[in-house]
Amino acid sequence: MSSLFPNYARRPIHLVEGKGTIVTDVNGKSYLDFISGIAVNSLGHAHPTLIQAVEEQSRKLWHVSNLFESPEQERLAALLLQDTHLSHMFFCNSGAEANEAAMKLARKFTGKHTIITFEQSFHGRTFGAMAATGQEKVKQGFGPLLPSFVTIPFNDSARLAAAATDEVAAIMLEVIQGEGGVNEITSDFAKAIHDVCKEKGILLIVDEVQTGIGRTGTRFAYEQTMLKPDIVTLAKGLGGGFPIGAMAGTTELAEVFGPGTHGTTFGGNPLAVHVAQSVVRHIFDPLFLDEVKKKSAYMKEQLQSILTGSPFVIKGRGLLVGIECGMDVTLMIELLQEKGLLVLQAGQTVIRLLPPLTVSVQEIDEAVEILGSVLPKMVVTS
Ligand SMILES: *Cc1c(COP(=O)(O)O)cnc(C)c1O
Repeated sequence: MSSLFPNYARRPIHLVEGKGTIVTDVNGKSYLDFISGIAVNSLGHAHPTLIQAVEEQSRKLWHVSNLFESPEQERLAALLLQDTHLSHMFFCNSGAEANEAAMKLARKFTGKHTIITFEQSFHGRTFGAMAATGQEKVKQGFGPLLPSFVTIPFNDSARLAAAATDEVAAIMLEVIQGEGGVNEITSDFAKAIHDVCKEKGILLIVDEVQTGIGRTGTRFAYEQTMLKPDIVTLAKGLGGGFPIGAMAGTTELAEVFGPGTHGTTFGGNPLAVHVAQSVVRHIFDPLFLDEVKKKSAYMKEQLQSILTGSPFVIKGRGLLVGIECGMDVTLMIELLQEKGLLVLQAGQTVIRLLPPLTVSVQEIDEAVEILGSVLPKMVVTS
């Protein structure tokens, strides 16, 4: 009998150790970790730089609250904002919190309350983020929900035009829907979003909780589109495994979040922020990001070669890769796990690969080999 609420469908594996891309369970069985704690362990497990960062800061100062100045937060902010059109940061503890901050900021700045979000999106589990999420299963039983959200199909410009009334404060979207199935925004739709925001004075919030911090091969995924978001939210990969969330915004928005308007006790504590500085310095190195792009291209190429002739379709960017299988993938994920490869589901029918950004070519080869021994067979048997 477990004393934990049964709100997670936990896999019956007890992982006790990790190094790089490899995790080991309590029985000594090793796995290639192509989940990375859901896009969190961006530098893999037990990265020496991060161990050092935790050690260093844990001896100095863990927590002081936001009653005091924070040069540590300033330094992380500078790293994140460098060479972007964004100018201000707010630090919190999770993706949902970052999105809550974003939606509060957008409402206060515009004086409007409607927020447009998209089907299959995922923005978190708090009341605001849950209402924003375009998946019924996330909301069931928790109503009445926070009102004023309008959820429309993704990549549907006609529906967007109809929804973009004068009441709209913001549009919130993922450039690639992670949980919802690794669904990319089309360039036509990005243009439609850009145009409608400009025309109607609607703020654009890009939720980069999963796609941000190098995951898609650039610092932020929006950089690969024509979008210039007013607000960007971050979390997952930002702390490399240490919990931290963040919201970035433009100069025009800054004054709206005056003293006392919004806050968090833990958010941006020196320990979390120090670790995140190490992560960001490491990943934002153009050479590192180039490697991510190369490994992504290589992985997709290798996947293509094992899936040629099958109906499976590869999608995604960087090291956020989906294999659309057109059938429920639960069984495949179990078989892959038995063979030592941990992967994730996205939507019902997509296998999602999220290796650490530090994954090696050899590890990609091993993972693809395991995928090749399971996936093509499924086509024949299904
Ligand atoms: C995971 C995720 C969230 C929620 O983050 P939490 O840290 O679990 O609150 C929000 N948005 C996106 C796009 C995510 O992938």
